[in-house]
Amino acid sequence: MNKKIAIVTGASRGIGRAIAEKLVADGFFVLGTATSDSGAEAISAYLGANGKGLKLNVADAADIDSFIKVTGDDYGTAAVLVNNAGITRDNLLMRMKDEEWDDIISTNLTSVFRMSKAVLRSMMKARYGRIINISSVVGSTGNAGQANYAAAKAGMLGFAKSMAKEVGSRGITVNTVAPGFIDTDMTKELSDDIKKSLMASIALGRLGQPEEIAHAVSFLASEQASYITGETLHVNGGMYMP
Ligand code: NAD
Repeated sequence: MNKKIAIVTGASRGIGRAIAEKLVADGFFVLGTATSDSGAEAISAYLGANGKGLKLNVADAADIDSFIKVTGDDYGTAAVLVNNAGITRDNLLMRMKDEEWDDIISTNLTSVFRMSKAVLRSMMKARYGRIINISSVVGSTGNAGQANYAAAKAGMLGFAKSMAKEVGSRGITVNTVAPGFIDTDMTKELSDDIKKSLMASIALGRLGQPEEIAHAVSFLASEQASYITGETLHVNGGMYMP
């Protein structure tokens, strides 16, 4: 294992990019993933000598297997996996099509199961690892129009706790960061009305920045967090207080 290798899925922009940049600042060599060749090239460009952009569709089991094999051969086993890639396909429940449900579960939840399982084989041998999943406040609060997304993001919480119990004895920690309302492409498209009502529910009265999520991930990936596992860190400006 190379303790300074970190994988960040969905690193082409937004929260994933901020996480990749922060982990580089922490001294990691980052393998950042994107869904397209151009996205992978863009990641390589911003990471420079401190990382590499690679193409990966986290919704595709075969793609994950070959990604883990190739990166393992080329760079060594990663010590840190950040399951960040995610999408939304919003619709009211009574209008939601099976494919809108399936896409979200597959991209946002099944991918986390597959990616984690794929890296765990080597992490267990090395008796070290940090797995950090990016969930959402919506996994705890629910949200009208996002039953698929809420189910996937809530599923991540139980999945992480179960995994933490299974692999803790091997020196591997598994934690979740649950962002609130963060200023990225994912939230840019929301209407002004929705943004206004969301803003009213945030104690700090503003959107979060991707870097504020990256700091939480950086902490959980660090030695300072060595005794924290199965935990969910809510980074939401006081939008939800469990
Ligand atoms: P974004 O849309 O800006 O970025 C999402 C990233 O995931 C992109 O890099 C995209 O290429 C990648 N991705 C999408 N489908 C993929 C696939 N099949 N395989 C591999 N990569 C794929 O979104 P963001 O706001 O930066 O969100 C990042 C994570 O944070 C997501 O899991 C999202 O659910 C979560 N989140 C975001 C917010 C927010 O307010 N922005 C709030 C809570 C949670």
